[in-house]
Amino acid sequence: MAEKEKETGTKTYKFKAEIKQLLDILARSLYTNREVFVRELVSNAADALDKARFESIRGIEMHQPDLSFEIKIDLDKDKKTFTISDTGIGMTKDELIANIGTIAHSGSAEFLKQVAENEQAGPTLIGQFGVGFYSVFMVADNVEITTRSYLKDAEAWQWTSDGTGSYKIEPIEVAARGTKIVVHLREDATEFAEKYRIETVIKKYSNFVPFPIKLGGEQINKISAIWREPKTSVKDEQYKEFYKFFATTSEEPLTWLHFSADAPIQLNSLLFVPKVNYEILGYSPKEHGVNLFVKRVLIQTDNKDLMPQYLRFMKGVVDTEDLPLNISRETLQENTTVVKIRNLLVKRILSHLADLAKDELDKYKEFWTQFGRSLKEGYMDYANREKIAELFRFNSSIHPNSEDLCSLDDYISRMKEGQKEIYYISGASRESIERDPHIEIFKQKGVELLYLYDPIDEFVFSGLFGFKEKNFVSADQADLKALQEIKSSEAVEEKNQAKQEIQKKEKRELEKLCTRIKNILGDQVEEVRLSERLTDSPAVLVTKEGGMSAQMQKIMQVMNKDADVPKKVMEINGSNDLILNMLSMFKNDPKDPYLSKAAEQLFYSTQLQDGFVLDPHKMVSGMQTLLLDATGWYIKDKNLAATKSDD
Ligand code: ADP
Repeated sequence: MAEKEKETGTKTYKFKAEIKQLLDILARSLYTNREVFVRELVSNAADALDKARFESIRGIEMHQPDLSFEIKIDLDKDKKTFTISDTGIGMTKDELIANIGTIAHSGSAEFLKQVAENEQAGPTLIGQFGVGFYSVFMVADNVEITTRSYLKDAEAWQWTSDGTGSYKIEPIEVAARGTKIVVHLREDATEFAEKYRIETVIKKYSNFVPFPIKLGGEQINKISAIWREPKTSVKDEQYKEFYKFFATTSEEPLTWLHFSADAPIQLNSLLFVPKVNYEILGYSPKEHGVNLFVKRVLIQTDNKDLMPQYLRFMKGVVDTEDLPLNISRETLQENTTVVKIRNLLVKRILSHLADLAKDELDKYKEFWTQFGRSLKEGYMDYANREKIAELFRFNSSIHPNSEDLCSLDDYISRMKEGQKEIYYISGASRESIERDPHIEIFKQKGVELLYLYDPIDEFVFSGLFGFKEKNFVSADQADLKALQEIKSSEAVEEKNQAKQEIQKKEKRELEKLCTRIKNILGDQVEEVRLSERLTDSPAVLVTKEGGMSAQMQKIMQVMNKDADVPKKVMEINGSNDLILNMLSMFKNDPKDPYLSKAAEQLFYSTQLQDGFVLDPHKMVSGMQTLLLDATGWYIKDKNLAATKSDD
């Protein structure tokens, strides 16, 4: 078929709709960041060279095997051209069509989505996502690609386009392996034919490209593998510069670790923690960002086997002597050396984070806010779970606001005498937790509660079972006897005494009231009983011993919509004024219909507080009846003139 086309010559193709859209945006609005097209072309050339080197190491026979791996840039001010060529793998005709004619690159699709939402953000986003080859149309009115695949019998092709509706592909006679791209610069972009301009851009973005970049015959980049240099000889600035290059970002890293090891594995590694977690912002350019090198040769970018999922935010380089150069990427996962490397990396990263937590509190907090959620997934890493759990941070009842954090070790160090468990409570926010009646007994006893705001936290706690031999116990499931045994402060103790007096005196009547309320509520509750945990609120719903925590039930309910609302125990507070009013009514007439109304309404309100509202209409109409009664009595009490609807 290629033969036939050689005879017929040129063929014209239309760009796909989304590419036209991308080209439109590029040509129209993005001026400030135009220089990134150089970075994108250089990085494509470097990728093509990496692949060619990889193939040659594997022993694949290639065209012009003696051609050295390098990138050349030539500038022509008169012709207004910027030309970049590489001796990489090149492209066949099919590859040209597949790679340059569509948006294969996930970054471009993501970019389009983001720009659609906010056009102003375009220039920065180009840096973030790398729109790739197409960014050339920010500066070009015409582009020619000539390319010849590294495969022995491949043919050479030329691709041309002015970046509007279509592109042209035709066969040509070129001998050299690789790709050459001639960029015909627009009148307003001739600066990119200036040597100093290009040199600055390359130093800025592409200094660490691992192949020589020659500009007018002179090599202008550094090509140093800084991860192989001794730590003492690398300056912070160099690490930052390398990171920016590596992660294609203008942001600095939050922290990094650079180390080498000899046993059990010989390796050099340089790993970075980014400042921002793009995953929580809803988009993630890349999931894993660790590149595997063997003896300085790049074997795989964005390798997924070297880093567990919960450390997927780490970016950097691992370079080992202990793998064969011709290892196939498919078998990496099962390779025992890779497993050993991974274990070593995890150990080093966790201890680096532990140091950060100890020595640089603010930085660690920044880390935790960005990546804590990923790290929590590490509770499943059985071998490292304790080290990982030590890195967890939570807000707690002892903090004055919702921003402060403490570790599980901090919590343990503050545990009360006689306290055996780590208590926590889940809720949407600090405010909602602080209104939860379940915390009253903890407040009264001065027992600290961890406040969990993230739904994943309860899974993490139940997955961990415990921490340093202490169990995690949810506030609504705490063993009251154990809590009662913890002594509270004297003042609190005194106040309690008074309250308990009333309860004691009225105990029998209150118990009867409980039975009456249970009768009123029927099947809606499992049981009604006097509470030992409430100090302020009139009532609370609790799980029957051994059941799921309230939060967990909510999660189950979300996952399984048909699940029944779990039946609960309603506890009433025998020293609360509302309950005491109800008691008076009950003593006067156990069948008083108003008592029934009050009991129903009390139940609905505790249910609401618990996060389940079964029947909002029933609840609202009950509430309005009570309001009608209350306002009626108020009017009577104040001798106000009543306004009647039938007046
Ligand atoms: P990306 O490089 O992020 O995949 P691009 O749009 O820049 O996106 O490039 C698309 C594809 O075109 C590349 O993935 C690669 O397969 C091919 N390509 C681009 N430049 C070259 C080159 N210099 N040599 C060989 N292939 C190239």
